[in-house]
Amino acid sequence: KEPERDAGVLVIGLGRFGSAIAVTLDRLGQDVLAVEHDETKVAQYSGRLPLVQADATNPEALEQLGARDFGMAVVGIGSSLEASVLVTANLVDLGTPQIWAKAVTAEHGRILQRIGAHHVVYPESDAGARVAHLVSGKMLDYIQVEDDFVIVKMRPPMEMQGFTLAQSDVRRRYGVTVIGVKSSGREFVYATPETRVAASDFIVVSGHEDVLERFSSRP
Ligand code: ADP
Repeated sequence: KEPERDAGVLVIGLGRFGSAIAVTLDRLGQDVLAVEHDETKVAQYSGRLPLVQADATNPEALEQLGARDFGMAVVGIGSSLEASVLVTANLVDLGTPQIWAKAVTAEHGRILQRIGAHHVVYPESDAGARVAHLVSGKMLDYIQVEDDFVIVKMRPPMEMQGFTLAQSDVRRRYGVTVIGVKSSGREFVYATPETRVAASDFIVVSGHEDVLERFSSRP
């Protein structure tokens, strides 16, 4: 009997994106199978990942390696639009319930969506947009949770340094919510009104993007 793989993830293409996904899922204990056609890549990852050498643009090859049994597939091919589209179409034809595909351009993404990919991701433009926030202000990390809602790690502005959160009152004054504070050598603590913030601390704050953009550029 075949192993139960409904929860398994097929990762096609071990480029930078696909390999990071496959290695991480494998480390998290997920059932992963990587598919790669390039000899050198296969040699590089064999022994480190469950791996099959195959050309995923070929529907029979996919069928043979048991692709039909997987609940999820990630298409990590970006450099060849043709291969990306063919592989995604093959997975749609197999009925893979959740297909994640990487797009390099907006047009590429539209095609993937149109042929039936369930989730299209844009790792390069996403990373670029994120890094723009980091280079432009004092943000040390930045996560966009929703279109307009972000979580930011930053150094506290001057007016918070040496004061408790009740005293600096940034929620009322600026509309940002402090989630927690991290002092060096100490555990992260969740914010309370009594939490005192030092200049050398990191704070983690949440709020609307434009509000946090302004808040994080305060001296
Ligand atoms: P990245 O930018 O994330 O490194 P690439 O597009 O450069 O992504 O890498 C895609 C990977 O997918 C390469 O390792 C390539 O050999 C592999 N690949 C491309 N086409 C196929 C295919 N038809 N079947 C299996 N693997 C493929």
